[in-house]
Amino acid sequence: MKPLSLLPPDAARALAGVIFDLDDTVLDHGALTEAAYAALFRLRETGLALIACTGRPAGWGEVLQRQWPIDATIVENGALALVREEESDAAGHRGGHAPRAGASRVVTLDDLDREARRARRAELIGLANDMVRRFPAAALADDNDLRVTDVTIDIGEHRHVPPEDVQKMRAELRERGVRTLLSSVHLHLTYDPSDKATGIVRLLSARFGEDPTRARHRYAFVGDSGNDGVAFAAFVLTFGVANVRAHLGKLSVPPQFVASLPMGRGFAEIAQQIAELRKNAPEP
Ligand SMILES: [Mg+2]
Repeated sequence: MKPLSLLPPDAARALAGVIFDLDDTVLDHGALTEAAYAALFRLRETGLALIACTGRPAGWGEVLQRQWPIDATIVENGALALVREEESDAAGHRGGHAPRAGASRVVTLDDLDREARRARRAELIGLANDMVRRFPAAALADDNDLRVTDVTIDIGEHRHVPPEDVQKMRAELRERGVRTLLSSVHLHLTYDPSDKATGIVRLLSARFGEDPTRARHRYAFVGDSGNDGVAFAAFVLTFGVANVRAHLGKLSVPPQFVASLPMGRGFAEIAQQIAELRKNAPEP
């Protein structure tokens, strides 16, 4: 991993956008700092598209997409994306009421309809309930009401589940055709094949008109840990905040550049370097 000072100016200037993880990348242990939030505005001022990409629930993404200065939010580890649509573009606007000027709504991009999602998720909830009955150290996580595609079992947020129990649960779920993803606090159960990299590329080609191969060069990715590994491998220009160093053992491809500071301050440092290089671009 190289220091940010070695970022080539041309690489920063060639970017169309920046995609970033939230927990422990933009957020410090879940909290949004002034420095990290301001960094989003500095990046945006240089003409970059901004996309958040997280394992957090769809319900979180909806709030972020309404309030933050970002163009899209990918949630549930790549399974869904949320974007804003101008009211005049949105389907279903009928009845002769003109939309309020500048009004927009947040829409969820999903290949499956809500009914199919609900049916799939009901099955996953049944399986998760069976698991927590049989492994009583575990419990359903408290963010499940906001989820659309996956179900989370708390293994390390408010509970402490022995690693051997986690392994047994994963093995049983795999036998029942369920894909599991492990974060430091949750075991995710899903039938969806997406990960952060496939979710990003699907969004970029569906909504940003990007060719999937070219998108790897036109967008940078910023992250910190294991579930960002696929994106560190997929994108050409990648950045880690300083705390990524603790996770290098789990990353087959480390980020190309690393900040000297952790979490939100590291994100601000990366944003500032990119913004400076873009602002100082020579006139074409
Ligand atoms: Mg993270």
